[in-house]
Amino acid sequence: MDLMRELCLAPGISGYEDEVADIIERELKDVADSIERDNMGNIIATKKGSKKAPKIMLAAHMDEIGLMVRFIDDNGFIKFSKIGGITDSILVNLTVTIHSSVGEDVIGVIGSKPPHVTKQEERKKVIPSDKLFIDIGAKDREDAEKMVAIGDEITFNSLFVEYPNNLIMGKAMDNRAGCYVLMEVLKRVETDATIYAVGTVQEEVGLKGAKTAAFKLNPDMAIALDVTLSGDHPGIKPEEAPVVIGEGPSLILSDAGGRGILTSTSVKELLIKAGDENDIKYQLEVSDGGTTDGSAIQLIREGIPTGVLSVTTRYIHTPVSVCSMDDIESTIQLIVAAINSL
Ligand code: ZN
Repeated sequence: MDLMRELCLAPGISGYEDEVADIIERELKDVADSIERDNMGNIIATKKGSKKAPKIMLAAHMDEIGLMVRFIDDNGFIKFSKIGGITDSILVNLTVTIHSSVGEDVIGVIGSKPPHVTKQEERKKVIPSDKLFIDIGAKDREDAEKMVAIGDEITFNSLFVEYPNNLIMGKAMDNRAGCYVLMEVLKRVETDATIYAVGTVQEEVGLKGAKTAAFKLNPDMAIALDVTLSGDHPGIKPEEAPVVIGEGPSLILSDAGGRGILTSTSVKELLIKAGDENDIKYQLEVSDGGTTDGSAIQLIREGIPTGVLSVTTRYIHTPVSVCSMDDIESTIQLIVAAINSL
């Protein structure tokens, strides 16, 4: 649990994944035969197998959605860019941390026009992010520039809480849950195959790191580790999100209506067999929503057989989400069983 807490609290918007990579390096340096960071910033931990055995790439993106300092106005207020898929409605009056390149971390609040001076019809509308700003208590631009700079990374401030029933609540479950699975699988797996455990960069802004890492490694098979929507809370229908917390990992058959991944048959069969033969719970998912690193990896070189296992998670792409340590554990067990069966 301490490792999961540390992963969730670590800052790492797209392009700023180093702190997460540092955790992965620390955890895997004694487990892997080699560990390296490539030109993009991906971290690749390799457990070498025999020459004849297959090479398997496991990919978990390290980046989280967040904001970036775009402009500082004359009064010292900060305008920001959204990095990754963020809905404007979640931003108003959030507290954030600006990871300053010129000094200490700075806490800020996303300010907006107060309700007292908002017209009736305005109150019903979502305030677009370009009308929002961050207040860091600066007296003017010069004062603000002593604290932060253009391009600084901004993350959401969220607690990490252990809920009852082995659930956890915190920031960036997307995709620190996948990073946790990645590390545990490398620690536990016993196989003749070569395993590349890859923490990828810049997934939330276009599946970028996975592309270059897959090209470099040229694996025989790949599994992306991520999170997926849970359909078990008010406001969402089972038909909109048919998988739920507590029923094991979601084995994605198709996402983004087939424009993302259509999971390779060989990988699908391997994972289903591993689940069935070892009595590990899993759920099958066909989704119309977003996609994962798996879609990028599948299309590298001549095509790489690829699948996706996702931890079912509530409130993805908001400042805070909820998932189950039991599901994380069954995801680990399923992948370890699949790899060990090769
Ligand atoms: Zn993700």
